[in-house]
Parts: sequence; structure tokens; C-alpha cells
Amino acid sequence: MHWEKSNRLKALPPYLFVEIDRAKRQAIAEGRDVINLGVGDPDRPTFNFIIEAMQQAVAEPSNHRYPFDEGVPEFRQAVANFMKNRYGVELDPNSEIITSIGAKEALAHLPLAITNPDDVVLILQPAYPVYNAAAIFAGAEPVRIPLKAENGWLIDLDAISDELAEKAKLIYVNYPNNPTAAVADLEWYAKLVSWAREKRIIIAADAAYNEVFFEQAPPSILQVSGAKEVAVEFHSLSKTFNMTGWRLGWVAGNAEVISALAAVKGNVDSGQFNAIQWAGVAALEGYQREEVRRQRAIYQARRDVLCDGLRRLGYELVPPSATFYVWAKCPEGVDSMSFAKRCLTEQAVVLIPGVGFGSAGEGYFRAALTVEVERIEQAIDRLAKIK
Ligand code: PLP
Repeated sequence: MHWEKSNRLKALPPYLFVEIDRAKRQAIAEGRDVINLGVGDPDRPTFNFIIEAMQQAVAEPSNHRYPFDEGVPEFRQAVANFMKNRYGVELDPNSEIITSIGAKEALAHLPLAITNPDDVVLILQPAYPVYNAAAIFAGAEPVRIPLKAENGWLIDLDAISDELAEKAKLIYVNYPNNPTAAVADLEWYAKLVSWAREKRIIIAADAAYNEVFFEQAPPSILQVSGAKEVAVEFHSLSKTFNMTGWRLGWVAGNAEVISALAAVKGNVDSGQFNAIQWAGVAALEGYQREEVRRQRAIYQARRDVLCDGLRRLGYELVPPSATFYVWAKCPEGVDSMSFAKRCLTEQAVVLIPGVGFGSAGEGYFRAALTVEVERIEQAIDRLAKIK
């Protein structure tokens, strides 16, 4: 039988890391000692206090049934408590919070809930690729807003024409940002909220990295007064608690958007395993624990070694104050894909070329802080040999 995959799948941009992936696999097959600064996945295990909570919850028969929307109400209550303590934001756990299967799932489903074919979805770029795919899957039209270093990688709202804003139904923003590590302050969020209210655009704020910070804790868009009228914020336990494999997150904010998202989810999934939600309760209640703070200190130490090392070699960068990514400029005149390929083939160091996050990322590379300090030092020694 002859068949073709769907037009929506065909409409996804080409996967730009094919060659890097191939070169990485080849280097490993050749027995080379590959230093992988490419992965955005914590290298350390989930904290023990969370695993212990999971072990108890998994043995409890009432957790073995379909979670559905209701799930574990205590998880949404723990989220509400966390948002109150960490951000001073009051949320109704029943109408203004929904549990998600990681942030990615909810980010990907949102356009199905609120856009119609031909609605424009505004997406910052460079960006995590899911926003673009989500818009395409819903039949909406993704329009990228290129970010610039001179604006601190923040969206220049004044540069979005009225005509475009008129067609837009939704805007995805992501601060602290993957890949640039840029952080938005409350002033910028306030400007975004007032712009979105005026233009009647829903804001999807991806805050997956909000708890991976160093000197200063980033704000929540929901701290802006009136934000709940137009915004939903996506949070994740993945990076904060080394829980990427567990798939747990939440969306908080506008109750109507949350209810629409719940309707989509009700038709495509039946909720996250209740035992995982109980582990999430333990995680959020343990947010202030020493091991969670220590994790941030570990990334901070790695950041300092990587940024100092790269700067010594002449690379231009702004050290990140949040996320576990360093975003640096490629050598003058070298495109990001060629640079990443050279680092891999000549020195077995994996870096992510900025162009993989969209053309606005060209000329930059991303290095993740998900390896130990000694490996970062070795990576710097090796990069010193790249001519
Ligand atoms: N948002 C951004 C910007 C990310 O980089 C990632 C993961 O890398 C996610 C969301 C997904 O997080 P989760 O594991 O909660 O699905």
C-alpha cells in the first residue's frame, strides 16, 4: 500500500542535527572519548526524598487507576502553595492549575485548544522547537519573531506590526530562555501583559527553567497584575528536581484557557500516573531543601569554569544567570553548523549549533552545564586546539 505521511508532519522544519548526530555516533563507535555538552538533560539523579515518596505511592492501590483530570488534588494544592510561597501568586488549584505530563505535552497541546486554522501564533526565535511544531499541528500559522543580542534576547514588542498582532491569537515566550539563557524581568513581563491585553492575544509563558537560577531568582509573569486575564505559565519538575524522565509539570493562570486545555487533554490522555503526582507533592514541598540548593550551586560552579575557559579562548558570551546553558558566539566568520562539526570531528566535543534553534540563532552555539567540572576543563583544553 502506498501512503504518505500527513501534511502537518511534512510541514515541520528539517531536523538540522542529523549530521551532528551522525558524527557523534561515529566518534563513539570509534571509541573516542566524547565530551557531550549538547544535552539539556540533568546528569545527576532525582533526589532521594522524591524517590522514597514514589516508592510508597507506587504500592498504594488507589494510585493504580486512571488519574483523569482530578488526578491527585494534593499535587495541585502543592503547586498553589509553591506559587504562593515562591512568587506571591494566589491560584485556585481547581480552576487555575492543571497537571501536565511535563511542560512539553501542555505546550504542544495548547494551540489545539485555542487556535483555529489560519490564526497566527507568534513564536520567539531562537527557540525550543516545540512551539513551532505545536502551531503547525493545530493548523495555525507560526510566525517567528527574531530575537537580537542587542535587546538582551527579549522580544521587541514595538517591532511587531499592528497588522500581524491583529491576526495573532497566541504568543509563546520563554524566559529564562533555552538556548540564549536570557531572563525577563517583571518590567518586561508587565509590558508584555499590557500589550497582549490591548491586542487580545493569549500569552503562553514557558517557565521550565525558572528554578534553575544562580544569583537571582527569576520572576513569574503571573506576578504582574492583570496577567491572569491573558496569560498561562508552564512549569516543570524536570530541571528543578532532576526529573526529566518522570514527565510532570503544570500550567497555571487563565481559567478559561486551562479549561480548554483540559478538554483537549481529556480526549488524548488520561492524566499522569497518580504515584508520580504524589512524588511531585514531595518534590514541591521539599523545594527549600539543601540538596535542591546544592544542585544550583553545582551548576553555578560549572558555569564559572565554562564561561571563564571560553572567554580565555576569546569567545564572546554573557554568563547565564539562569538555565544550565551557555550561549556563546562562534569564531568570526564561521557558521554555527561548521563550527559544531569541527569541534566534534577534531576534538570530540559536542556543542549545539545555534542555527538548530532557528535562523536567528546563527553565529552562536549552546553548551550545556550537564557534565562535571573536570569534563568541562577537558573540553576547554580541547577547544583551545580548534584553530
Ligand atoms: N521548555 C523548554 C524551553 C525546554 O528546554 C524543555 C526541555 O528541554 C521543556 C520545556 C520541556 O520540559 P519537560 O521535561 O517538562 O517537558
